[in-house]
Amino acid sequence: MSSVWHPFTQHGLGEPIPMVSHARDAVIHTADGRSFIDAISSWWVTTHGHCNPRIMAAIAEQAGKLDQIIFAGWTHEPAETLAAGLRGILPRALEHVFFSDSGSTAVEVALKMALGYWHNRGEDRSRILVLEHSYHGDTIGGMSVGARGVFNRPYQPLLFDVGTIPFPSAGAEQATLDALEAECRAGAAAFIVEPLVLGAGGMLFYTPALLAEMRAICTRHDVLFIADEVMTGWGRTGTLTACEQAGVVPDILCLSKGITGGAIPLAATLATAPIFQAHVSEDRARMFFHSSSYTANPIACAAAVANLAIWRDEPVLARIARLGEWQQAALDRLAGVPGLIGHRRMGTIAALEIEQPENTYLSAIAPRLMAFARDRGVLLRPLGNTVYVMPPYSITRAQLDQVWGLVPDFLAA
Ligand code: PLP
Repeated sequence: MSSVWHPFTQHGLGEPIPMVSHARDAVIHTADGRSFIDAISSWWVTTHGHCNPRIMAAIAEQAGKLDQIIFAGWTHEPAETLAAGLRGILPRALEHVFFSDSGSTAVEVALKMALGYWHNRGEDRSRILVLEHSYHGDTIGGMSVGARGVFNRPYQPLLFDVGTIPFPSAGAEQATLDALEAECRAGAAAFIVEPLVLGAGGMLFYTPALLAEMRAICTRHDVLFIADEVMTGWGRTGTLTACEQAGVVPDILCLSKGITGGAIPLAATLATAPIFQAHVSEDRARMFFHSSSYTANPIACAAAVANLAIWRDEPVLARIARLGEWQQAALDRLAGVPGLIGHRRMGTIAALEIEQPENTYLSAIAPRLMAFARDRGVLLRPLGNTVYVMPPYSITRAQLDQVWGLVPDFLAA
């Protein structure tokens, strides 16, 4: 028996754990000769498909030059090129780039930047505001600003208090804005939000207009606005970032997942000049106290530079638009299938719900559908009753149709 302990996996159920040997584009191959369509981009990371040749070549080249170097007070070319490249494609106000290694750490860094900013300015502000149903990662800070549920119940005593703003469900948008305004008026350090799509919370969408209004409220009350684009970034919602659709420029922006095209761990937290400047002084006690051993790993940065080159040279947005059309056509075909409700799509993300009396994280339907899909050569991982497909941009239409074709078969079975 393997001694590997897997994440978000109940080992007690004895479910099979496939041994993956290799993968290319949207297809994963296992050691026993099976293949699977990766309908969720291996947890939303592989934007350009597995083993993109340009990214693999950049990794190989960098691995021959510099593997790893302490980043406190040292630098290297891939990090500098990447930071400049990110600045070139993101809003100008996001002048400073801090590297870390996962979406969760990008969020931790953002929260610490926000609190450091207020602390160094001599203002006593530490309250963080969050949107209901959010997910920002599994570290203690990430869980604290995320939805509370069965998945973080044991750790509850370690989580800090936040102000929770109700999710803007259809017809209740004003209540969201009013609650945010009231919390901001009472005084807060920052509001952290997943722009346009709450991912792990169930692929819940809201409009660019609402995002813009939430940003305006934060600006009005001098509350820092943190956009967590760990999932929505790199084209997932149809544009490079979701904030772009609302004309919103955050004070702090979190990026990870697709930053390396999904090949290797890396994250970036970008901040505006005032946030950086609040940490700049002759006083060493005011520096930004955060690092991890692998901060700005050169091989990861080189992979991200290759990702930027793909975005620069290739018609990535056109691929995304085409994938969006295929997703919409698939959803339209499923409309009216008994047992399915709530079709929705934003950019490359398409979701629908299987009608069930209860929709919880532990809904039995999710593992049943996952197993059904696995037996038919598809990697799916529903969120409760919500089935979503978020494939690599290199998926073919035939592969995508095969994925969606499973759903009516599952309901009929
Ligand atoms: N923030 C958002 C919006 C996410 O969707 C995720 C992961 O799904 C995270 C943060 C955490 O990222 P990671 O799993 O890389 O720590």
